[in-house]
Amino acid sequence: MAKYDVIVLGAGAAGLMAAARAGQRGRSVLVVDHADSPGKKILISGGGRCNFTNINTRAETFISANKHFAKSALARYTPRDFLDLVERYDIAWHEKTLGQLFCDGSAKQIVALLMEECRVAGVEFAFGSAAEAVERTDDGFKLMLAGKAHQTSSLIIATGGPSIPKMGASDFAYKLARQFGLKVVEPRPALVPFTLPNADSLFRELSGVATETIATVGKAVFREASLFTHKGLSGPAMLQVSSYWRHGEPVHVNLLPDVTSHDWLIEEKHAAPKTKPVALLTRHLPERLAQALVTKLALPAMLGDCSDKALRQAGEQLAKWPFLPDGTEGFAKAEVTVGGISTAELSSTTMEAKRCPGLYVIGEAVDVTGWLGGYNFQWAWASGVAAGNAA
Ligand SMILES: Cc1cc2nc3c(=O)[nH]c(=O)nc-3n(C[C@H](O)[C@H](O)[C@H](O)COP(=O)(O)OP(=O)(O)OC[C@H]3O[C@@H](n4cnc5c(N)ncnc54)[C@H](O)[C@@H]3O)c2cc1C
Repeated sequence: MAKYDVIVLGAGAAGLMAAARAGQRGRSVLVVDHADSPGKKILISGGGRCNFTNINTRAETFISANKHFAKSALARYTPRDFLDLVERYDIAWHEKTLGQLFCDGSAKQIVALLMEECRVAGVEFAFGSAAEAVERTDDGFKLMLAGKAHQTSSLIIATGGPSIPKMGASDFAYKLARQFGLKVVEPRPALVPFTLPNADSLFRELSGVATETIATVGKAVFREASLFTHKGLSGPAMLQVSSYWRHGEPVHVNLLPDVTSHDWLIEEKHAAPKTKPVALLTRHLPERLAQALVTKLALPAMLGDCSDKALRQAGEQLAKWPFLPDGTEGFAKAEVTVGGISTAELSSTTMEAKRCPGLYVIGEAVDVTGWLGGYNFQWAWASGVAAGNAA
């Protein structure tokens, strides 16, 4: 029987980081992945340039049933720590916006960095192998791989969440968690486009139109671009609030984030009553969107033909447009998963399961989900290091 100190299930961001760290501590490490090569999500991330961290990382940029859980790991492995690694490998990078750091070149450089860190640490790999059965033994875990038994003292679950199954994502982590009696917080698709009902066909006809917005779901507020799609709404602002959204909730959108007064239409009417509402809105918005909004608001041809009351209502609605999505595009299109293995089951310093010593859970499999913008990789690195230092 093949024996290892540590077996890591999943050669994604978190698994590779944990494996490299454990290997550097002199542990014998095997990484298992059912894919034929490592880091597939890293390769497609950030439009192929990998938004590998965010310098504004803090606990508030993560969603979890326990908002304090991520703090310890994030404090012990910071964006600066990952950036030091990136610079050690001479990978050129830039800050795009809002603290988001990207490779100048390609996400392939990040996968190559992680694989090199593993290589120098003597980590072994088994690609194209799905873990068939995992059993607890007296001194750790027994794992069947392609019909062969493997023994390990520590088992790290890094198989991610079920978002984008066609990239090899699976709910294996949850199955394993349940086998070992660990609770799972209901997984939901997150950072995912919304779908709008057929009745909103006027907006769906705007497919491809984008505009700066402030989007709100409950207490979550994000100022970023929104994009109309043939199915509904996308763009960074919508993806951000989707992580907080529950079925039946409205998404409120301020379509004119730089206009501060609801009475601005009235002021414009008194200044120039012959102004066409479409022409006025086109000063702030793409023309197709302006036209659709004027139709929805049933505004007359000239501002002067509209009462002050109606203009005030229109101003209020433009600042808080209620969209009622009928759903999202689901796990097939979700960048990440909200929910996952409950943090109540894990040590926040080592990611080890409290009721199953030797079992660790890291990355997206855990009920910690970052905002859009490099936060999810920072969690993968930090939780990977936490487990790799302990396993
Ligand atoms: C299109 C897209 C773009 C993204 N862009 C960014 C970005 O720019 N910045 C950012 O911070 N985040 C981004 N994310 C999110 C980020 O990719 C994830 O949060 C991160 O990859 C999670 O890391 P992980 O190691 O936990 O899981 P993953 O990277 O998903 O790795 C899990 C691994 O486990 C393997 N696996 C699954 N099931 C099994 C099984 N049963 N047996 C064996 N192996 C298995 C998979 O093949 C995979 O290799 C993006 C996500 C997507 C989908």
